[in-house]
Amino acid sequence: MERSFLTFNNVSFQYREDYPWVLQNVTLNVKPNEWVAIIGHNGSGKSTMAKLMNGLLFPQHGSVVVDGEELAEETIWEIRKKVGMVFQNPDNQFVGTTVKDDVAFGLENHGVPREEMIKRIQQSLETVGMSSYENQEPHRLSGGQKQRVAIASVLAVSPELIIFDEATAMLDPKGRREIMNTVNHLRRERDVSIITITHDLNEVAMADRVIVMNKGEVWHEGTPREIFAKQAELTDIGLDAPFVTKLAHELKDMGLDLEMEPIN
Ligand code: ADP
Repeated sequence: MERSFLTFNNVSFQYREDYPWVLQNVTLNVKPNEWVAIIGHNGSGKSTMAKLMNGLLFPQHGSVVVDGEELAEETIWEIRKKVGMVFQNPDNQFVGTTVKDDVAFGLENHGVPREEMIKRIQQSLETVGMSSYENQEPHRLSGGQKQRVAIASVLAVSPELIIFDEATAMLDPKGRREIMNTVNHLRRERDVSIITITHDLNEVAMADRVIVMNKGEVWHEGTPREIFAKQAELTDIGLDAPFVTKLAHELKDMGLDLEMEPIN
């Protein structure tokens, strides 16, 4: 069987004993170097899943396994080196007064020696295309640039999986494009797995595999093409097909068939 980097085995979670179950029997696998998009309406449990992936939360039932090791109090520090997270609001993620200091911060926390630190800061800023901003104040950057610095900070720790939890939600279209190009570049340049939690179905189209969450359960799983083919069901659970797919459908209805084979 193909190796799984991240596994959820029948994970169920509730925030408190007297609260409803937020996740029920969720099973999923993310392979090395795979890009998985998780979608679903608000409250379907996506962010909770992200928090269970690096030990910000622990499941009441089932287990979360990262790189062969079960997530537990004793393993979270090792696992947090392997699983990086980029959140929605870039302003909440800065701790340094310059871009360089900010990237250095995570490394200091992990006890990386100075020489190695300098090398990693340079490499990660280069990967996200922010090398020339290393002495700038993070707060002066555009939204997309801020998120690229946040990605560099995560990258510097050399994670094997990066989770983007609505990381483009607060950005303008240009910022979104910057981040998606960076994610694409990352995947080619570094051997990382990617999980994107998003409402933007244009982003979903770029993933290898899509997991659709509904009311705390995996509602469907498949390639972007397979998921978008379920347009009516997606609309039922409050999700909309991406622009390109809709356009292809409309053009097909008008008798213009695109070479991209619109999904039925
Ligand atoms: P999504 O990311 O899909 O919007 P969440 O994982 O944030 O969903 O939330 C799933 C459910 O858990 C929602 O009903 C939400 O209200 C509830 N929830 C989220 N965080 C907490 C919390 N800290 N305490 C109690 N309930 C929470």
